Amino acid sequence: MASLRCLLPSRARAKQAPAKSNGFRFLSTSPSLRNIPTRIFRDVAPLRAYRRELLLNKRTVGLVPTMGALHDGHASLVRHAAAENTDVLVTIYVNPTQFGQNEDLASYPKTWEADMQVLGKLDQELASAGQGRVTAVFAPSTKTMYPTLPPDSSIPGVGSFIEMRPLGQLLEGASRPVFFRGVATVCMKLFNICAPDRLYFGQKDIQQTRVIRRMIKDFHLDMDLRIIPTSREPDGLALSSRNVYLGARRRDVGIVLNQALRMAETQYLNGKRLRNDVLWPAFAHSNQVLADQEDMEPSKRAKFQVDYISLADPDTMEEIDQIDDTKGAILSGAVKMLPVEESQEGEELGRLDVENRQVPVRLIDNIVLDPMR
Ligand code: AMP
Repeated sequence: MASLRCLLPSRARAKQAPAKSNGFRFLSTSPSLRNIPTRIFRDVAPLRAYRRELLLNKRTVGLVPTMGALHDGHASLVRHAAAENTDVLVTIYVNPTQFGQNEDLASYPKTWEADMQVLGKLDQELASAGQGRVTAVFAPSTKTMYPTLPPDSSIPGVGSFIEMRPLGQLLEGASRPVFFRGVATVCMKLFNICAPDRLYFGQKDIQQTRVIRRMIKDFHLDMDLRIIPTSREPDGLALSSRNVYLGARRRDVGIVLNQALRMAETQYLNGKRLRNDVLWPAFAHSNQVLADQEDMEPSKRAKFQVDYISLADPDTMEEIDQIDDTKGAILSGAVKMLPVEESQEGEELGRLDVENRQVPVRLIDNIVLDPMR
């Protein structure tokens, strides 16, 4: 195999994935991170050749698909992958087809240089722990991922798509109609390109894990799915790449969703099984927090809309009236944190504020209610 060593892209090029160069580059960042054997691939053919070589050497591949803007939640996926595979392959690709036409594709955070630093440090940690290594990053262009047509986010849309119905149309899919079509489609492409032994997805996006599980079953994919627990801030807020947009005021109020779900979980742990008995404290809490915010001055408050709070079957994600003790259930929810009103001088309002473009931020979270017997 050819081996190339390139320096990290300069600041000017930093936000872009690296330019094509014999198919891959090495991830060598600061001097302390040189000699890291992570290769960066932009194209399918060299990645396939690399994968074939791994197979011939009886190595195993754990795939961690991401959209970049890496945080500790992504790192946790990588660590789990490194614990049971010789090689961890991280993909970084912001997939346009999962963003609706009015959604935040253009403003989705792109932090290539920081991501490479995160992976470099992680790889060093894994090396000293004697774990599997992050040996490859796949950061394709959209032309590579969608070779036939420009990707289409409209409905019904033109193109080659994977869809799981009705699973992909519930909950997140009801609010974001093209979301799971885009996710399933890009994941199928990544799985075909990378041919992993194991997949690592976060429980944070619980419905996504159900979509992937269904894909594996229905399309006879030869790979195992691992679902990794949600990484959280100390107060319980689930880590998310989008949290950078919240700013302090919305960040503080945004914990409402996790609090509401935990209240519903307590009901379950206290023996409640009927839908309303489980969910009412979650609704009561979110209504109260919203009422409190509405009573505050516009310059202090952060308003939000609850999109849904759900009690669903753990496989189909369909709403249930009662929890079956042998199956358990999934509590999940989504809130839209609205743009803050009347920002005050010196107030930290989130990254987009710099560009004077306050946007709503969608937060999702979930808790799995384990079977009781
Ligand atoms: P994303 O880059 O947001 O598409 O996420 C890539 C992967 O990281 C998905 O499998 C997510 O479920 C997972 N992930 C995102 N946030 C978290 C988190 N807070 N804890 C664990 N996994 C996460």
